[in-house]
Amino acid sequence: MNVLVWFRRDLRAFDHPALAAAGAMGPVLPVFVIEPDFWTQADRSGRQWAFLRETLLDLRGQLRGQLLVRQGAAVTVLAGLCRKHRIRRIVTMADAAWPGGCDVAEWARGAGVEWLELPQGADAGQGALNFVADLAPGPIPDARSLGMVDDRCPHRQAGGRAAGQALLDGFLTHRSQGYQQAETHALLSERASSRLSPHLAWGSLSAREVALAAAERQVAANHGDWAAGLRLFQSRLALRDQSPVVPMTGQGAAHDLDAFAAGETGLPFVDAVLRYFQATGWLNHRLRALLVSIALHHLRINPTLAGQALARLSTDYDPTIHSREMQRVALARPLHPLPLAARLDPTGSFTRRWLPELAHLPDDALQQPWKSPLARPLLGRRYPEPLVDPNQALRRAGARKGATHRRPDFTLIECPRQLALPL
Ligand SMILES: Cc1cc2nc3c(=O)[nH]c(=O)nc-3n(C[C@H](O)[C@H](O)[C@H](O)COP(=O)(O)OP(=O)(O)OC[C@H]3O[C@@H](n4cnc5c(N)ncnc54)[C@H](O)[C@@H]3O)c2cc1C
Repeated sequence: MNVLVWFRRDLRAFDHPALAAAGAMGPVLPVFVIEPDFWTQADRSGRQWAFLRETLLDLRGQLRGQLLVRQGAAVTVLAGLCRKHRIRRIVTMADAAWPGGCDVAEWARGAGVEWLELPQGADAGQGALNFVADLAPGPIPDARSLGMVDDRCPHRQAGGRAAGQALLDGFLTHRSQGYQQAETHALLSERASSRLSPHLAWGSLSAREVALAAAERQVAANHGDWAAGLRLFQSRLALRDQSPVVPMTGQGAAHDLDAFAAGETGLPFVDAVLRYFQATGWLNHRLRALLVSIALHHLRINPTLAGQALARLSTDYDPTIHSREMQRVALARPLHPLPLAARLDPTGSFTRRWLPELAHLPDDALQQPWKSPLARPLLGRRYPEPLVDPNQALRRAGARKGATHRRPDFTLIECPRQLALPL
Protein backbone atom coordinates (compact mmCIF):
# COMPACT_ATOMS: atom_id res chain seq x y z
CA MET A 1 0.00 0.00 0.00
CA ASN A 2 1.34 3.47 -0.95
CA VAL A 3 1.96 5.76 2.04
CA LEU A 4 2.27 9.54 1.96
CA VAL A 5 4.83 11.11 4.31
CA TRP A 6 4.07 14.76 4.98
CA PHE A 7 7.31 16.60 5.89
CA ARG A 8 6.89 19.76 7.92
CA ARG A 9 9.77 20.96 10.17
CA ASP A 10 11.61 17.65 10.39
CA LEU A 11 13.49 17.89 7.12
CA ARG A 12 15.86 14.94 7.16
CA ALA A 13 15.77 11.28 6.17
CA PHE A 14 17.88 10.12 9.13
CA ASP A 15 16.25 9.56 12.56
CA HIS A 16 12.81 10.31 11.14
CA PRO A 17 10.19 8.08 12.82
CA ALA A 18 7.42 8.91 10.33
CA LEU A 19 9.57 8.13 7.29
CA ALA A 20 10.85 4.92 8.88
CA ALA A 21 7.32 3.79 9.82
CA ALA A 22 6.01 4.56 6.33
CA GLY A 23 8.93 2.75 4.69
CA ALA A 24 8.00 -0.42 6.60
CA MET A 25 4.38 -0.17 5.32
CA GLY A 26 4.95 0.18 1.58
CA PRO A 27 6.14 2.49 -1.21
CA VAL A 28 6.55 6.04 0.08
CA LEU A 29 5.44 9.38 -1.37
CA PRO A 30 7.43 12.10 0.49
CA VAL A 31 5.87 15.57 0.23
CA PHE A 32 6.58 19.11 1.38
CA VAL A 33 3.81 21.66 0.86
CA ILE A 34 4.50 25.38 0.44
CA GLU A 35 1.51 27.41 1.58
CA PRO A 36 2.06 30.78 -0.17
CA ASP A 37 -0.17 32.71 2.30
CA PHE A 38 1.93 31.44 5.17
CA TRP A 39 5.12 32.80 3.61
CA THR A 40 3.75 36.32 3.28
CA GLN A 41 2.81 36.57 6.99
CA ALA A 42 4.44 39.36 9.01
CA ASP A 43 6.77 37.06 10.97
CA ARG A 44 8.14 35.32 7.84
CA SER A 45 11.08 36.47 5.74
CA GLY A 46 13.20 35.73 2.71
CA ARG A 47 16.15 34.59 4.84
CA GLN A 48 14.01 31.95 6.54
CA TRP A 49 12.84 30.72 3.17
CA ALA A 50 16.40 30.77 1.73
CA PHE A 51 17.62 28.57 4.60
CA LEU A 52 14.61 26.27 4.24
CA ARG A 53 15.04 26.06 0.47
CA GLU A 54 18.62 24.83 0.87
CA THR A 55 17.36 22.36 3.47
CA LEU A 56 14.72 21.05 1.04
CA LEU A 57 17.25 20.69 -1.78
CA ASP A 58 19.48 18.69 0.55
CA LEU A 59 16.55 16.54 1.71
CA ARG A 60 15.64 15.84 -1.90
CA GLY A 61 19.21 14.55 -2.35
CA GLN A 62 18.86 12.33 0.74
CA LEU A 63 15.62 10.90 -0.75
CA ARG A 64 17.28 10.06 -4.07
CA GLY A 65 15.55 12.97 -5.81
CA GLN A 66 12.05 11.80 -4.84
CA LEU A 67 10.87 14.61 -2.53
CA LEU A 68 7.74 16.17 -4.02
CA VAL A 69 7.39 19.91 -3.46
CA ARG A 70 4.00 21.43 -4.21
CA GLN A 71 2.35 24.83 -3.62
CA GLY A 72 -1.16 25.38 -2.26
CA ALA A 73 -3.28 24.79 0.82
CA ALA A 74 -1.98 21.62 2.51
CA VAL A 75 -5.37 19.94 2.57
CA THR A 76 -5.98 20.55 -1.15
CA VAL A 77 -2.50 19.39 -2.17
CA LEU A 78 -2.50 16.28 0.00
CA ALA A 79 -6.06 15.32 -0.93
CA GLY A 80 -5.13 15.61 -4.63
CA LEU A 81 -2.00 13.46 -4.19
CA CYS A 82 -3.93 10.83 -2.22
CA ARG A 83 -6.48 10.57 -5.01
CA LYS A 84 -3.88 10.48 -7.78
CA HIS A 85 -1.65 7.85 -6.15
CA ARG A 86 -4.39 5.81 -4.43
CA ILE A 87 -3.08 6.56 -0.96
CA ARG A 88 -5.04 5.45 2.12
CA ARG A 89 -2.54 6.45 4.80
CA ILE A 90 -0.67 9.67 5.70
CA VAL A 91 2.16 9.61 8.23
CA THR A 92 3.72 12.73 9.71
CA MET A 93 5.61 14.00 12.76
CA ALA A 94 3.57 15.90 15.36
CA ASP A 95 4.04 19.65 14.98
CA ALA A 96 1.42 21.78 16.72
CA ALA A 97 3.00 25.06 15.59
CA TRP A 98 2.85 24.30 11.85
CA PRO A 99 -0.33 25.39 10.07
CA GLY A 100 -2.77 23.07 8.38
CA GLY A 101 -2.30 19.96 10.55
CA CYS A 102 -5.83 20.05 12.02
CA ASP A 103 -7.44 20.67 8.62
CA VAL A 104 -5.60 17.74 7.08
CA ALA A 105 -6.44 15.44 10.01
CA GLU A 106 -10.12 16.39 9.73
CA TRP A 107 -10.19 15.92 5.97
CA ALA A 108 -8.45 12.53 6.32
CA ARG A 109 -11.05 11.33 8.86
CA GLY A 110 -13.87 12.32 6.51
CA ALA A 111 -12.17 10.80 3.45
CA GLY A 112 -11.36 7.47 5.12
CA VAL A 113 -7.60 8.09 4.92
CA GLU A 114 -5.67 6.89 7.95
CA TRP A 115 -3.84 9.77 9.69
CA LEU A 116 -0.80 8.84 11.79
CA GLU A 117 0.93 11.62 13.69
CA LEU A 118 4.02 10.34 15.52
CA PRO A 119 5.40 12.12 18.59
CA GLN A 120 8.72 13.94 18.29
CA GLY A 121 11.51 11.78 19.67
CA ALA A 122 9.75 8.46 18.89
CA ASP A 123 12.06 5.61 17.88
CA ALA A 124 13.04 5.49 14.22
CA GLY A 125 14.21 2.29 12.54
CA GLN A 126 16.55 2.26 9.57
CA GLY A 127 14.93 0.10 6.86
CA ALA A 128 15.38 0.47 3.08
CA LEU A 129 12.98 2.88 1.37
CA ASN A 130 10.99 2.28 -1.80
CA PHE A 131 9.26 5.17 -3.49
CA VAL A 132 5.97 5.38 -5.35
CA ALA A 133 6.76 5.06 -9.07
CA ASP A 134 6.82 7.92 -11.60
CA LEU A 135 6.92 10.88 -9.25
CA ALA A 136 7.40 14.40 -10.64
CA PRO A 137 9.33 16.15 -7.83
CA GLY A 138 8.54 19.73 -8.93
CA PRO A 139 10.60 22.93 -8.60
CA ILE A 140 11.63 24.45 -5.28
CA PRO A 141 10.99 28.17 -5.87
CA ASP A 142 13.13 31.04 -4.64
CA ALA A 143 11.87 33.72 -2.24
CA ARG A 144 10.88 36.18 -4.96
CA SER A 145 8.66 33.65 -6.70
CA LEU A 146 6.79 33.33 -3.42
CA GLY A 147 6.19 37.09 -3.24
CA MET A 148 8.77 37.76 -0.53
CA VAL A 149 10.83 40.92 -0.57
CA ASP A 150 14.59 40.76 -1.06
CA ASP A 151 16.28 40.00 2.21
CA ARG A 152 20.04 40.38 2.09
CA CYS A 153 21.64 38.35 4.83
CA PRO A 154 25.25 38.24 3.63
CA HIS A 155 26.58 36.02 6.43
CA ARG A 156 23.60 33.70 6.71
CA GLN A 157 24.39 30.11 7.66
CA ALA A 158 23.89 27.51 4.94
CA GLY A 159 20.88 25.21 5.20
CA GLY A 160 20.82 21.44 4.71
CA ARG A 161 21.88 18.41 6.64
CA ALA A 162 25.46 18.35 5.36
CA ALA A 163 26.01 21.92 6.59
CA GLY A 164 24.35 21.06 9.92
CA GLN A 165 26.52 17.99 10.41
CA ALA A 166 29.69 19.97 9.69
CA LEU A 167 28.62 22.61 12.22
CA LEU A 168 27.84 19.98 14.86
CA ASP A 169 31.13 18.23 14.21
CA GLY A 170 33.17 21.46 14.55
CA PHE A 171 31.26 22.37 17.71
CA LEU A 172 31.76 19.03 19.42
CA THR A 173 35.39 18.56 18.43
CA HIS A 174 36.72 22.09 19.17
CA ARG A 175 34.36 24.99 19.60
CA SER A 176 32.45 23.65 22.62
CA GLN A 177 35.60 23.97 24.75
CA GLY A 178 34.65 27.61 25.26
CA TYR A 179 30.87 27.03 25.50
CA GLN A 180 30.50 28.06 29.16
CA GLN A 181 32.00 31.47 28.35
CA ALA A 182 30.25 31.85 24.99
CA GLU A 183 27.70 34.38 26.20
CA THR A 184 30.12 36.46 28.25
CA HIS A 185 31.58 38.25 25.24
CA ALA A 186 29.75 39.38 22.12
CA LEU A 187 32.62 38.44 19.78
CA LEU A 188 33.41 35.08 21.38
CA SER A 189 29.82 34.01 21.07
CA GLU A 190 29.92 33.32 17.36
CA ARG A 191 32.74 30.83 17.80
CA ALA A 192 31.83 29.10 21.04
CA SER A 193 28.02 28.89 20.75
CA SER A 194 26.79 25.92 18.78
CA ARG A 195 24.77 28.03 16.26
CA LEU A 196 22.79 24.86 15.59
CA SER A 197 19.41 26.54 16.14
CA PRO A 198 18.34 26.92 12.48
CA HIS A 199 19.16 23.25 11.82
CA LEU A 200 17.14 22.21 14.88
CA ALA A 201 14.30 24.59 14.01
CA TRP A 202 13.89 23.12 10.50
CA GLY A 203 14.87 19.61 11.51
CA SER A 204 17.87 19.01 9.25
CA LEU A 205 19.34 17.61 12.49
CA SER A 206 17.18 15.87 15.08
CA ALA A 207 17.40 17.15 18.66
CA ARG A 208 17.87 13.55 19.72
CA GLU A 209 20.90 12.90 17.53
CA VAL A 210 22.50 16.17 18.68
CA ALA A 211 21.85 15.31 22.35
CA LEU A 212 23.31 11.80 21.89
CA ALA A 213 26.42 13.12 20.13
CA ALA A 214 26.91 15.73 22.89
CA ALA A 215 26.52 13.09 25.62
CA GLU A 216 29.14 10.88 23.92
CA ARG A 217 31.50 13.80 23.62
CA GLN A 218 30.92 14.69 27.26
CA VAL A 219 32.06 11.23 28.33
CA ALA A 220 35.21 11.61 26.20
CA ALA A 221 35.86 15.08 27.63
CA ASN A 222 35.70 13.43 31.06
CA HIS A 223 35.64 16.10 33.79
CA GLY A 224 36.50 19.77 33.75
CA ASP A 225 35.17 22.84 31.99
CA TRP A 226 34.67 21.19 28.63
CA ALA A 227 32.41 18.45 30.06
CA ALA A 228 30.54 21.03 32.16
CA GLY A 229 29.99 23.12 29.01
CA LEU A 230 28.58 20.11 27.20
CA ARG A 231 26.23 19.41 30.12
CA LEU A 232 25.03 23.01 29.93
CA PHE A 233 24.52 22.61 26.18
CA GLN A 234 22.37 19.51 26.75
CA SER A 235 20.27 21.31 29.35
CA ARG A 236 19.59 24.05 26.80
CA LEU A 237 18.64 21.52 24.15
CA ALA A 238 16.09 20.14 26.60
CA LEU A 239 14.39 23.56 26.74
CA ARG A 240 13.09 22.88 23.24
CA ASP A 241 10.58 20.40 24.68
CA GLN A 242 8.30 22.82 26.47
CA SER A 243 4.65 23.39 25.72
CA PRO A 244 3.58 26.31 23.53
CA VAL A 245 2.36 29.59 25.02
CA VAL A 246 -0.11 31.87 23.35
CA PRO A 247 1.66 34.88 21.78
CA MET A 248 1.77 38.02 23.85
CA THR A 249 -0.29 41.01 22.87
CA GLY A 250 -0.12 44.48 24.33
CA GLN A 251 -0.09 48.17 23.87
CA GLY A 252 2.76 50.16 22.50
CA ALA A 253 3.71 52.39 19.65
CA ALA A 254 4.99 51.68 16.15
CA HIS A 255 6.88 54.93 15.61
CA ASP A 256 10.35 53.66 16.62
CA LEU A 257 9.91 50.27 15.01
CA ASP A 258 11.65 51.06 11.72
CA ALA A 259 14.65 52.65 13.44
CA PHE A 260 14.86 49.67 15.78
CA ALA A 261 14.69 47.11 12.97
CA ALA A 262 17.29 49.05 10.95
CA GLY A 263 19.76 49.17 13.87
CA GLU A 264 19.42 52.94 14.20
CA THR A 265 18.36 53.43 17.80
CA GLY A 266 21.38 55.66 18.52
CA LEU A 267 22.47 53.26 21.30
CA PRO A 268 25.73 51.92 19.83
CA PHE A 269 25.93 48.46 21.40
CA VAL A 270 22.25 47.80 20.65
CA ASP A 271 22.70 48.96 17.04
CA ALA A 272 25.80 46.79 16.64
CA VAL A 273 23.81 43.76 17.88
CA LEU A 274 20.95 44.55 15.49
CA ARG A 275 23.30 44.93 12.53
CA TYR A 276 25.01 41.68 13.41
CA PHE A 277 21.58 40.01 13.53
CA GLN A 278 20.67 41.51 10.13
CA ALA A 279 23.91 40.26 8.59
CA THR A 280 23.90 36.73 10.04
CA GLY A 281 20.31 35.78 10.96
CA TRP A 282 21.59 34.43 14.28
CA LEU A 283 22.16 35.77 17.81
CA ASN A 284 22.94 34.26 21.16
CA HIS A 285 20.31 34.16 23.87
CA ARG A 286 21.55 37.04 25.96
CA LEU A 287 21.71 39.44 23.02
CA ARG A 288 18.20 38.48 21.85
CA ALA A 289 16.96 39.23 25.36
CA LEU A 290 18.68 42.63 25.24
CA LEU A 291 16.93 43.49 21.98
CA VAL A 292 13.52 42.54 23.35
CA SER A 293 14.13 44.51 26.52
CA ILE A 294 15.12 47.60 24.53
CA ALA A 295 12.11 47.26 22.23
CA LEU A 296 9.51 46.67 24.96
CA HIS A 297 10.82 48.47 28.03
CA HIS A 298 12.88 51.34 26.63
CA LEU A 299 11.22 52.16 23.30
CA ARG A 300 7.79 50.84 24.31
CA ILE A 301 7.22 49.33 20.88
CA ASN A 302 4.09 47.24 20.49
CA PRO A 303 5.13 43.66 21.47
CA THR A 304 3.46 42.03 18.48
CA LEU A 305 5.28 44.33 16.05
CA ALA A 306 8.61 44.00 17.87
CA GLY A 307 8.25 40.21 17.97
CA GLN A 308 7.53 40.06 14.24
CA ALA A 309 10.52 42.27 13.42
CA LEU A 310 12.87 40.03 15.42
CA ALA A 311 11.29 36.88 14.01
CA ARG A 312 11.94 38.09 10.46
CA LEU A 313 15.63 38.54 11.27
CA SER A 314 16.00 34.96 12.62
CA THR A 315 16.80 32.05 10.33
CA ASP A 316 15.96 29.80 13.29
CA TYR A 317 12.53 31.33 13.94
CA ASP A 318 10.45 28.92 16.03
CA PRO A 319 7.13 30.51 17.05
CA THR A 320 6.88 28.44 20.24
CA ILE A 321 10.33 29.31 21.59
CA HIS A 322 10.12 32.88 20.36
CA SER A 323 6.77 33.65 22.08
CA ARG A 324 7.87 32.03 25.32
CA GLU A 325 11.14 33.95 25.42
CA MET A 326 9.47 37.25 24.51
CA GLN A 327 7.12 36.77 27.46
CA ARG A 328 9.95 35.95 29.78
CA VAL A 329 11.85 39.12 28.91
CA ALA A 330 8.64 41.18 29.15
CA LEU A 331 8.21 39.96 32.73
CA ALA A 332 11.83 40.42 33.72
CA ARG A 333 13.54 43.52 35.05
CA PRO A 334 14.45 45.83 32.12
CA LEU A 335 18.05 45.47 30.96
CA HIS A 336 20.37 48.47 30.91
CA PRO A 337 22.35 48.56 27.64
CA LEU A 338 25.35 50.50 29.01
CA PRO A 339 26.52 48.11 31.78
CA LEU A 340 25.74 45.20 29.43
CA ALA A 341 27.91 46.76 26.72
CA ALA A 342 30.71 47.21 29.26
CA ARG A 343 30.43 43.53 30.26
CA LEU A 344 29.89 41.90 26.88
CA ASP A 345 32.04 44.19 24.74
CA PRO A 346 34.65 45.61 27.14
CA THR A 347 37.12 46.72 24.46
CA GLY A 348 34.42 47.96 22.07
CA SER A 349 35.73 45.66 19.33
CA PHE A 350 32.27 44.19 18.56
CA THR A 351 30.64 47.64 18.44
CA ARG A 352 33.41 49.05 16.24
CA ARG A 353 33.22 46.10 13.84
CA TRP A 354 29.50 46.54 13.21
CA LEU A 355 29.37 50.35 13.44
CA PRO A 356 32.37 51.45 11.39
CA GLU A 357 31.09 55.04 11.48
CA LEU A 358 31.95 55.10 15.21
CA ALA A 359 35.19 53.11 14.96
CA HIS A 360 37.46 56.11 15.47
CA LEU A 361 35.82 57.22 18.73
CA PRO A 362 37.80 56.72 21.94
CA ASP A 363 36.53 54.11 24.39
CA ASP A 364 34.92 56.62 26.75
CA ALA A 365 32.78 58.09 23.93
CA LEU A 366 31.91 54.88 22.08
CA GLN A 367 28.80 53.76 23.97
CA GLN A 368 27.39 57.22 24.78
CA PRO A 369 28.35 59.38 21.78
CA TRP A 370 25.63 61.92 22.66
CA LYS A 371 27.72 62.91 25.70
CA SER A 372 30.98 63.45 23.82
CA PRO A 373 31.95 66.68 22.01
CA LEU A 374 34.14 64.53 19.76
CA ALA A 375 31.13 62.59 18.51
CA ARG A 376 28.78 65.58 18.23
CA PRO A 377 29.52 66.29 14.54
CA LEU A 378 28.47 62.73 13.66
CA LEU A 379 25.10 62.76 15.40
CA GLY A 380 22.07 63.23 13.24
CA ARG A 381 24.30 62.86 10.17
CA ARG A 382 26.32 59.65 9.99
CA TYR A 383 24.89 58.21 13.18
CA PRO A 384 21.49 58.91 14.81
CA GLU A 385 20.77 60.76 18.02
CA PRO A 386 19.59 58.24 20.67
CA LEU A 387 15.86 57.50 20.55
CA VAL A 388 15.88 57.37 24.37
CA ASP A 389 18.23 58.07 27.22
CA PRO A 390 18.51 54.59 28.79
CA ASN A 391 18.73 56.00 32.32
CA GLN A 392 15.54 57.97 31.89
CA ALA A 393 13.82 55.08 30.17
CA LEU A 394 14.65 52.79 33.09
CA ARG A 395 13.46 55.34 35.63
CA ARG A 396 10.25 55.70 33.67
CA ALA A 397 9.80 51.95 33.60
CA GLY A 398 10.01 52.05 37.38
CA ALA A 399 12.83 49.52 37.57
CA ARG A 400 14.03 48.74 41.06
CA LYS A 401 17.23 46.80 41.58
CA GLY A 402 16.42 43.19 42.36
CA ALA A 403 12.68 43.63 41.94
CA THR A 404 10.63 41.56 39.53
CA HIS A 405 9.18 43.90 37.00
CA ARG A 406 5.57 43.47 36.02
CA ARG A 407 4.13 45.77 33.44
CA PRO A 408 0.40 46.24 33.41
CA ASP A 409 0.34 46.99 29.69
CA PHE A 410 1.31 43.47 28.56
CA THR A 411 -1.26 40.73 28.33
CA LEU A 412 0.32 37.43 29.28
CA ILE A 413 -1.96 34.59 28.59
CA GLU A 414 0.13 31.86 30.15
CA CYS A 415 3.06 32.40 32.46
CA PRO A 416 6.31 30.87 31.12
CA ARG A 417 8.15 28.38 33.27
CA GLN A 418 11.31 29.57 34.96
CA LEU A 419 14.15 28.74 32.55
CA ALA A 420 17.75 27.98 33.31
CA LEU A 421 19.31 30.68 31.15
CA PRO A 422 20.56 33.97 32.53
CA LEU A 423 19.48 37.09 30.66
C1 LIG B 1 13.56 36.85 22.61
C2 LIG B 1 14.12 35.51 22.25
C3 LIG B 1 13.66 34.86 21.11
C4 LIG B 1 14.16 33.59 20.79
N1 LIG B 1 13.69 33.00 19.64
C5 LIG B 1 14.19 31.78 19.29
C6 LIG B 1 13.74 31.16 18.08
O1 LIG B 1 12.89 31.68 17.35
N2 LIG B 1 14.27 29.93 17.76
C7 LIG B 1 15.20 29.31 18.56
O2 LIG B 1 15.65 28.20 18.22
N3 LIG B 1 15.62 29.88 19.70
C8 LIG B 1 15.16 31.09 20.09
N4 LIG B 1 15.58 31.66 21.27
C9 LIG B 1 16.40 30.86 22.20
C10 LIG B 1 17.91 31.02 22.06
O3 LIG B 1 18.27 32.36 22.11
C11 LIG B 1 18.45 30.40 20.78
O4 LIG B 1 18.02 29.04 20.69
C12 LIG B 1 19.96 30.39 20.76
O5 LIG B 1 20.45 31.71 20.85
C13 LIG B 1 20.45 29.74 19.48
O6 LIG B 1 21.86 29.72 19.45
P1 LIG B 1 22.65 28.34 19.57
O7 LIG B 1 22.10 27.35 18.61
O8 LIG B 1 24.10 28.65 19.51
O9 LIG B 1 22.24 27.91 21.07
P2 LIG B 1 22.97 26.95 22.09
O10 LIG B 1 23.27 27.73 23.31
O11 LIG B 1 24.08 26.20 21.49
O12 LIG B 1 21.79 25.95 22.50
C14 LIG B 1 21.59 24.71 21.81
C15 LIG B 1 20.17 24.60 21.33
O13 LIG B 1 19.28 24.55 22.42
C16 LIG B 1 18.04 25.16 22.07
N5 LIG B 1 17.79 26.28 22.98
C17 LIG B 1 18.68 27.13 23.51
N6 LIG B 1 18.07 28.02 24.29
C18 LIG B 1 16.74 27.72 24.25
C19 LIG B 1 15.58 28.27 24.86
N7 LIG B 1 15.64 29.29 25.69
N8 LIG B 1 14.38 27.71 24.60
C20 LIG B 1 14.29 26.63 23.78
N9 LIG B 1 15.36 26.07 23.18
C21 LIG B 1 16.56 26.61 23.41
C22 LIG B 1 18.19 25.67 20.64
O14 LIG B 1 17.67 24.71 19.76
C23 LIG B 1 19.69 25.77 20.48
O15 LIG B 1 20.13 25.62 19.16
C24 LIG B 1 15.11 32.95 21.62
C25 LIG B 1 15.56 33.62 22.76
C26 LIG B 1 15.08 34.89 23.08
C27 LIG B 1 15.58 35.57 24.32
